[in-house]
Amino acid sequence: MKVLVATEKPFAKIAVDGIRKEIEGAGYELALLEKYTDKAQLLEAVKDANAIIIRSDIIDAEVFDAAKELKIVVRAGAGYDNVDLQAATAHGVCVMNTPGQNSNAVAELVFGLLVYAVRHFYNGTAGTELMGKKLGIHAYGNVGRNVARVAKGFGMEVYAYDAFCPKEEIEKDGVKAVDSAKKLYKDCDIVSLHIPATAETKNSINYELLKDMPKGGILVNTARKEVINESELLKLMHEREDLKYITDIMPAANEKFVDFAGRYFSTPKKMGAQTAEANINAGIAAAKQIVGFLKEGCEKFRVNK
Ligand code: NAD
Repeated sequence: MKVLVATEKPFAKIAVDGIRKEIEGAGYELALLEKYTDKAQLLEAVKDANAIIIRSDIIDAEVFDAAKELKIVVRAGAGYDNVDLQAATAHGVCVMNTPGQNSNAVAELVFGLLVYAVRHFYNGTAGTELMGKKLGIHAYGNVGRNVARVAKGFGMEVYAYDAFCPKEEIEKDGVKAVDSAKKLYKDCDIVSLHIPATAETKNSINYELLKDMPKGGILVNTARKEVINESELLKLMHEREDLKYITDIMPAANEKFVDFAGRYFSTPKKMGAQTAEANINAGIAAAKQIVGFLKEGCEKFRVNK
């Protein structure tokens, strides 16, 4: 069995060593395709792979067509919108993610971004504090839960809305469960976005939802840029000079947002999961899931039907 690690943006060496230990320890062969610059290299490398570990690499129908021996793809990370799930299912390939492995890293970045924002991007003027402010967590999944944990340390009042997570599960963490996204945005000084990018959520963070944010409201996005309706957010930021947008995923229309000096910040490149710990955790989890799947047929964390 051949397991390919195909990473345009490679894992840290220590993560690759950990992956190698899991894969070779199970008696499989490990192949590496790192820093590839051309899709043709990926298409060539997948030809005889039985399993693939990826990061943000695009695995589309063409890749599945080329990978005749493929049984499983594991996205080392949470979001898997870079994999064509329909094509995977049509080719009989199992797709998994590694939920939870980078959640703390993302949650810590949320607060790095927030402190930077409320202290006026460290421009030397007096800012505000997070303590006592109302934080709304939009989607109470792995990242959202970690954000709640850290927010309590800052002394924030924590609220959350999740379309699928039961209220009791939110409230057992000492977080106030809110009935609708609308109410969350209306009631909270700061909203931190943690919804996945799905057909339903794309463009869903729109004018209608954001317009009721309290004066001085901050939207922090470490989820996906696709969930934001950028043109409507731009319109609102022109109308409301008190709102701030802070993001880890540069908007497609970044050049229009940079005009909002002091109210807009984007990391130059997605940084949320970029920690040594998250890198290692997600890579090794992916390797373990592949071994579990190939040896025992374990499909925990499968994301396609
Ligand atoms: P998760 O799957 O653990 O949680 C997602 C949550 O969203 C679930 O609780 C689900 O019930 C909820 N949800 C789904 N659709 C919803 C809707 N329409 N309305 C309200 N809630 C909804 O995912 P996660 O690990 O917490 O990741 C959350 C997001 O963060 C994803 O978009 C992921 O791609 C992104 N992410 C970004 C980085 C980064 O580097 N910035 C790293 C990891 C994850």
